Order: sequence, then structure tokens, then C-alpha cells
Amino acid sequence: MVCFYPGPAKIYPSVKQHLNEAYDSGLLERNHRSAPFEALLKETVSLLKEKLAVPSVYSISFVSSATECWEICTQSFTEEKSLHIYNGAFGKKWFDYAKRINASAERFVYDCHQSIIEKLPKTDADLICITHNETSNGTQVNSYDLKKVREVYSDQLIAVDATSSMAGVELPFEEADIWYASVQKCFGLPAGMAVLICSPKAVEQAKQIDDNRFYNSYNFIEKNFSKSQTTHTPNILGIYLLNKVMEEISPITKISQQLQKQAKEWAEVIQKSSFDFLIENESVRSDTVLAIKGKSLEQITDFIKQAEQNGFVIGKGYGEWKETTFRIANFPAISELETTSLQHFFESYG
Ligand SMILES: *Cc1c(COP(=O)(O)O)cnc(C)c1O
Repeated sequence: MVCFYPGPAKIYPSVKQHLNEAYDSGLLERNHRSAPFEALLKETVSLLKEKLAVPSVYSISFVSSATECWEICTQSFTEEKSLHIYNGAFGKKWFDYAKRINASAERFVYDCHQSIIEKLPKTDADLICITHNETSNGTQVNSYDLKKVREVYSDQLIAVDATSSMAGVELPFEEADIWYASVQKCFGLPAGMAVLICSPKAVEQAKQIDDNRFYNSYNFIEKNFSKSQTTHTPNILGIYLLNKVMEEISPITKISQQLQKQAKEWAEVIQKSSFDFLIENESVRSDTVLAIKGKSLEQITDFIKQAEQNGFVIGKGYGEWKETTFRIANFPAISELETTSLQHFFESYG
């Protein structure tokens, strides 16, 4: 079976080997304050910066999930309140988590067929929260639009959930302060960890806010990571696998180009089929998660079933689009050959 589910998603095939190597290396049994672990952490951070083109002044740390990052944003980076600008289910989830911790969290919901910059609200919030790639409806905030968002909210911190695009798409890190992604999507790794990337401005703001109420208060995390240590015993296996995969993959510009090329091929295949993209507006459509609209729930169910019989795991619809769409991951761990074979299946389905 080839997994085209948009998370947990297809894992890089080399991970099988790296799991064995991790066991043999003895690192999994080593204290996380030991020199070999600290060296692994340090090297992994530097590989991430190199391969994903993260500005060298940004701070990288590892936490357990994107969901944890939602909470960290409210706990450690929000002074008064956050404003959540979203168009889909993951943006809404983030808002819901924030509101449970800080009741003054605000939201602005925009149309998923339009650009985020069409109607940016005025706000007195100090943290602006954006979902870069909305996994539920297959939309993406492009770099041009993010730049505009940065211009409009130049005083605030901007936090970006890039869970289903980081390590697949070249991200304009300078246009925001907090970026994060869990590793079970474009990183092509098993779930259980997330990468959290912060600008110097974000690190500074966290210091001012001085949240020290939680084990995962950002100041504790940052203080430890700046010494290549962690606040608690971390996911050593996850870090090991991330290290190995980062070592192997191409630079992000190359990965990004390849996924864009495949996204274009997909557009041609879909156009000829009996399906449509949920999002017609190409400038807001995702390159990494394809949300495809069927004519009826029966057609969608039949497609998913037949795809499965032919060896492809397809993502069901999500949230509001649960019964009208299905989703296909265009993630880097899926080989070009695998993508072509699913495209052929599409063509034969009609
Ligand atoms: C998958 C996903 C999440 C949740 O990730 P977890 O690792 O389960 O916390 C959050 N945001 C987006 C955009 C996602 O695609």
C-alpha cells in the first residue's frame, strides 16, 4: 500500500534502516545530558537550518506536536490576546485551544477561495496566528500574501502553523516570528515530535512576557536548547531520525520545485477527470495537500474504496468538507513513480 494520507503520512523508506542504526548506536540508552546526545541535537538543528533555509539567527527547538505549539503560543508568546485569522478546521482548532487558555483570544474567519489579504482586520492583539497550509481544505498562504500580512501587522508577532508544508515548501521565514510543524507530514517521519522555529523578536518577547508556569514554557525550552539540552527527556529516536533524514534530503528549493511540478501534473489529471479541486483559485491552492471535490458522497466513497483495492491509501475529507471531498498528499517522501501510478489510477477511474 502506498500512503497518500495527509498525515500521518508516507515515511521516507530510509527510515527503516535508520531505526536499526538508532538501536545499534546506543544513543537511545544514553542520558540526554550526555555529550553524544548534545552533539546529536546540535547537529540536527544545524542540518535543519541548512536544508530548510532557516535564517541562522532563528532559534530551533523540538516539542511533541503542533497541538503543543498551539498552547505554547498562548502561554509564552501572548501578552494580552491573540488574533486567529483562518479559513479551515486546523485554524479553528488552534483558536479553540487558545481560547481555553486565554478567553480573550479573537478570530477572523476568511473565505477559503479568497486570499488572506483581501480583508485583514484591524486589531489590538499582540500575536497574529495564521495557518500556512490548511490541511482540511487544501489552501495555502503564498509568500507574497505573507509579506503583506507582515506589513499590515508590523508591530505584532506573527505565528504560523506550517505543519503540512514545512520541509515540502520553501517558507519565507523572515515574514513571521514563530513557525512550527509536526514531523508526520512533509518531514516524512513517524509522529511524536514537532519543530518549533522562533525569530529573535519572538525569543525577546517571550523573555518580556516571562511565562514560567509550565514545563513547556518557551523560556525554559529556549534556555535549554541554546545549550543543546532539553527541559525533559526528549524523543531521542525522533531526533535521531530527523537528523538522518535531514542529512539525506535535497535542499528545500529543490524539493519545493519538485512538489510544484507534481502539483501542476495533478491539476492536469484532475481537470481531465470527473472530479474538481475544492479550491479553484490557484493562487491560494496548496501544493502539498490536494483537496478534491466529488459529485456525491457515494462517488467519493467508491473512489477511496477502489483506490485502496489498487494499493493506494487516500485521505478522507476533513471538517466541513468531510463528505464532499477527499484529500491526497503531495509530500516529498512519496516517490515520483508512486505519484505517477496514482495519477494513472485516476485516469483509469475517469
Ligand atoms: C496535522 C496538523 C496539526 C496537528 O498536528 P499534531 O501533530 O497532531 O498536533 C496542526 N495543524 C495542521 C495544519 C495540521 O495539518
